[in-house]
Amino acid sequence: MKQRLLFLGPPGVGKGTQAALLCQKQNLLHLSTGDLLRAEVASQTSLGIEAAEIMNRGELVSDSIVLSIVEKRLATSNDGWLLDGFPRNLLQAEALEVLLEKINQPIDAVLLIELADELLVERLIARGRADDKETVIRHRLEVYKEKTAPLIDHYNQHGLVMTISGEGDIEAISSRIQQKLI
Ligand code: ADP
Repeated sequence: MKQRLLFLGPPGVGKGTQAALLCQKQNLLHLSTGDLLRAEVASQTSLGIEAAEIMNRGELVSDSIVLSIVEKRLATSNDGWLLDGFPRNLLQAEALEVLLEKINQPIDAVLLIELADELLVERLIARGRADDKETVIRHRLEVYKEKTAPLIDHYNQHGLVMTISGEGDIEAISSRIQQKLI
């Protein structure tokens, strides 16, 4: 079983749900930069106050903030981990590579979950989080295509990408993911 994983895919595709399920089953550390940032927002730290405004516009929070959050957490993990929502651009991916080399923990696999735009928008509107208003959602999709989707090529060049469909219910997607990881 692969132990060091990265989930890639557009907002609304179900990465967070699937990541949580898989981490519970396989006892992996679930590192979601979105969740960690929302925790900072909820406890109104200075970082959280700065991040909230950026997140509610659908923009990406600065690389240095996100990197410091990830670095702190990854350093504490001995076993496997799953990165969800990070890296989100090439600069973050390069910084991650430096960090992983330092701790001698290479990525085993990148799971790309895909779904058509209109289904993503529908799901996100139904979820109704603070940044799930239709105009903000469409902007997040554009940011994904411009900044995050190039990572697919990047990891393909390393032969790491496995693609799965994000269609169907939670159980169906979950079993597709587990089959890929055997
Ligand atoms: P979704 O999966 O719906 O895109 P996330 O919970 O992963 O939502 O992220 C929500 C918001 O948090 C993003 O729109 C962005 O503003 C911020 N964020 C999360 N991860 C990162 C990251 N790696 N780099 C920059 N901003 C991030």
